[in-house]
Amino acid sequence: MTDTATGRATAINIRSVRKVYGDPQSGLVALKSVDLAIFDNEFFTLLGPSGCGKTTLLRMIAGFEFPTDGQILLYGEDIASRAPYDRPVNTVFQHYALFPHMSISENLAFGLQSHPMGKRLSKAEIATRVEEMLTLVQMQDFARRKPAQLSGGQQQRIALARALAPQPKVLLLDEPLSALDLKLRQAMREELKSIQAKTGITFIFVTHDQEEALAMSDRIAVLASGQVQQVGTPAEIYEKPLNRFVADFIGETNFLPATVEHLQQGQALCRIAGGQVLASEAREGIRQGEAVTLSIRPERLSLLASDSADSTPCTLQGASYLGTDWQYQVKLEDGSTLRIRTPNQAGLGQFALGERLSLQFTAGCASLLLD
Ligand code: ATP
Repeated sequence: MTDTATGRATAINIRSVRKVYGDPQSGLVALKSVDLAIFDNEFFTLLGPSGCGKTTLLRMIAGFEFPTDGQILLYGEDIASRAPYDRPVNTVFQHYALFPHMSISENLAFGLQSHPMGKRLSKAEIATRVEEMLTLVQMQDFARRKPAQLSGGQQQRIALARALAPQPKVLLLDEPLSALDLKLRQAMREELKSIQAKTGITFIFVTHDQEEALAMSDRIAVLASGQVQQVGTPAEIYEKPLNRFVADFIGETNFLPATVEHLQQGQALCRIAGGQVLASEAREGIRQGEAVTLSIRPERLSLLASDSADSTPCTLQGASYLGTDWQYQVKLEDGSTLRIRTPNQAGLGQFALGERLSLQFTAGCASLLLD
């Protein structure tokens, strides 16, 4: 099955999926109406705060829950009537649940034998597959150990190898790194990404950690209150957030009031306090003269000591030393305040509190928000 807009093969199509727990009329609405196309061989992340419905969506793909309305297609096939074990999908959970009395290789072999996709394999084929999987996750030297003799990170790798062993078409990962400490989590990010690339299996990764999502994903769907807020590459999500929720949830940002002065060739030219005009990608339904909000990331702003014609005057209200960066807070003429982050090059703050400065915007820094 191919996505008409991009021409890419689609692994999973989620069509108008709604999920209500309990009574369909009065129960808890976990997902309102979700449409998503996840491509083949993609590292796709479902990102959102606790309770936004990401695990519910994952569990419906796995077959542990069913949509109240809508359809889920796997490589073009409606999987509604397929039981979890009968889907070419496997899941890695946050808690890896390895059998404590079995060695690592026995754990993998057992997982494979008890999976429908592994049942037809001979003993020799299973042994080969187990070895391949241990090599893939760089654990070939640990085959004879018991789970208790491994660290948390090593156990997580084994859980990953076990889920990959039946060669699913889609691997679902539900916050698999959240039980690990920060350093290990960062190392595992790289490794997960490289394993996805090596195997070519479609990964659907659930997390509430925006940094994790940005670092690993080919594309991200940001969810809030049971709805998809935006789908895009990490750079699109970060640089061009569509609404206030996405702008605020991913990284730090400034919200700046502006008026749309002109619309031309897909661009909205927006006038901000102080008179400067910033260009942003136009959005559907936006009209000339409309009062809007722009999102501008702090690192896309800088300060100059002198006034210049194409800058915006401001007053320095605060300066914080952050080691790698300086963070400044300034006030514009209309009273709005903005945060600015600049790399710490001199080691000293350059400006004095209360000083009149001029604010510089890098080209393309503004993203017009829909709400
Ligand atoms: P978290 O990151 O905390 O796991 P999440 O984004 O994965 O959150 P879900 O677990 O999908 O969110 O939950 C979405 C909503 O559905 C929440 O309000 C939750 O309380 C509710 N919910 C989830 N599972 C059930 C269930 N089995 N019965 C009733 N309500 C449920």
